[in-house]
Amino acid sequence: MTSIETTCHIAFVSSWAHSLSRLPHLFGDLTSPIKNISCPIPSCTSVGSISHQLHLALPEDKSLADLMCNTKKLQQKLNLQRTDNIVSSILANPQSKRSSARFRSLQGTGAGAWLDSIPQSAKFALKPGEFRLATRLRLGCEMPLGSVVSTCECGKDVDRDGYHLLTCKSGGGPVWTHETLSSVWSSCLQQLKMTHQREPRNCYINSNDRPDIIAFDAQSGCDIELDISVAHPWAQQILSQAALEDGAAASKRELEKAQKYGGEWNMWGRTSNCIALVFEHFGRWGQDAVDFLNRLSHQSTDEDGRSNGREFKTYWRRCLSIALQRCNANVLCKKLGRVVRSKDSTEPCLAN
Ligand SMILES: [Zn+2]
Repeated sequence: MTSIETTCHIAFVSSWAHSLSRLPHLFGDLTSPIKNISCPIPSCTSVGSISHQLHLALPEDKSLADLMCNTKKLQQKLNLQRTDNIVSSILANPQSKRSSARFRSLQGTGAGAWLDSIPQSAKFALKPGEFRLATRLRLGCEMPLGSVVSTCECGKDVDRDGYHLLTCKSGGGPVWTHETLSSVWSSCLQQLKMTHQREPRNCYINSNDRPDIIAFDAQSGCDIELDISVAHPWAQQILSQAALEDGAAASKRELEKAQKYGGEWNMWGRTSNCIALVFEHFGRWGQDAVDFLNRLSHQSTDEDGRSNGREFKTYWRRCLSIALQRCNANVLCKKLGRVVRSKDSTEPCLAN
């Protein structure tokens, strides 16, 4: 989320670079003044003044002349560079392990897909209260606990960062999120007309473990077992690593799932073919989930049989991202309401 104040400088420089690169082709006799503008020449002349203003707005290691060599998507490139600089400086001077882990998680694939979604239908729309709570989580703002909330219904203290409320199993929050995401993945498979079954029982010969979905992949001729889960980078056993390494919580969960299902023999006499579809609470996807959606997108075609994998990927990435953020917000709201009620307060529920 960038301020207009910052974006306007980048837009200004990009507009100048685009215009200046075109002008010599249209007006040959302007070549000399244009060269002056694209070099930093502090002076009181009008050309010098414009040049000076432009160069103040440029990144330290760039000149307008460099940027004019390739003006394609210049504003986007400058914005990316600016964002990278901000993230690097924040990670170099972290406020806390939680802050670093949150920033690293937010850099990952899919983490911001809900912000790009146009709310054209209920599926892609968050209610104002849901949006506020999801945004608080993303920005690292404290939860609105009011003055009476101190303990969760499980008896433990509630932290103002929302970690306990999101991850505590008391009240069913994590299960609800898990079920919702399973349902969205099922709809995704349905769109490709992949035969699949949710919550199949007695899959494995020697254990009661069960994947969330079994799907038949006609292209490989194999069943795929999908295990869906949500990991939090602030969990005690991963926080230190998540503060130093991008996607550590999702990677750890993928590894745990691989170990869990790795030695299992299923009822068809084969070892498990399980894929862990992991999300981090802040929205980042695990690499296996990214790869799985890529793989599915290759099978997607439009009504005329033309490949539309890119649209397919964007659509489902947004669906899953919105679903996760809606779950986060509603789990927080539901639990905040329950904690407030247990304290006999009239504090309003913010997601209504
Ligand atoms: Zn609790």
